[in-house]
Amino acid sequence: MSIAENLSRIRAHLGKATLIAVSKTQSAEAVREALAAGQRIFGENRVQEAQAKFPPLRGDFPDLELHLIGALQTNKAADAVALFDVIQTLDRPKLADAVAKAIQKTGKRPRFYIEINIGREPQKAGIAPEDAEDFLAYCRTACQLDIAGLMCIPPEEQDPAPYFKELRALATRLGLPHISMGMSADYETAIACGATEVRVGTALFGKRPAKA
Ligand SMILES: *Cc1c(COP(=O)(O)O)cnc(C)c1O
Repeated sequence: MSIAENLSRIRAHLGKATLIAVSKTQSAEAVREALAAGQRIFGENRVQEAQAKFPPLRGDFPDLELHLIGALQTNKAADAVALFDVIQTLDRPKLADAVAKAIQKTGKRPRFYIEINIGREPQKAGIAPEDAEDFLAYCRTACQLDIAGLMCIPPEEQDPAPYFKELRALATRLGLPHISMGMSADYETAIACGATEVRVGTALFGKRPAKA
């Protein structure tokens, strides 16, 4: 199946949700195929890879929107602020401080989502659900960040639905309109549970090329 065919199949299931095409490890040509089929929102998980791939594509498609969905190191904060429209992985106060500084320096103002460790897994990034309200206040008051939503990656090999529902309830309680959850294997479940954005890679582009 072509990228265009995959795209129209996925679109048929989206309802009101927005598709973020996860193009990590995919070539610029693959991204161009998706662009030609009308896709405009892309997700990347590494700053350097996105820096190499997207500036020329943006030249041709000025309405392209780029989301960072992978972990962000503080030493890459300025590059990320300069490049991305949305940073979905705000997950600790030190990073909030670093992006705030980068915004002052660059004058760029991306939107942010807070990454929630919805399964409370010790090895995973993200703010614990019970700490989300305090962290949101810190990001807004101390750092003046534009916080627009929440994102999560639920635990593997479990029914994701209860985690998706918990994220949605948390976003509602905090008054945050964007809820980024669901990937290739579970985006339909995520949409049924209230996702406003799904992050789909493999189901759109096919299997990812092996990492170099
Ligand atoms: C890679 C990735 C995705 C997409 O995963 P697929 O299973 O290929 O759809 C979604 N979200 C994050 C955070 C990712 O790193």
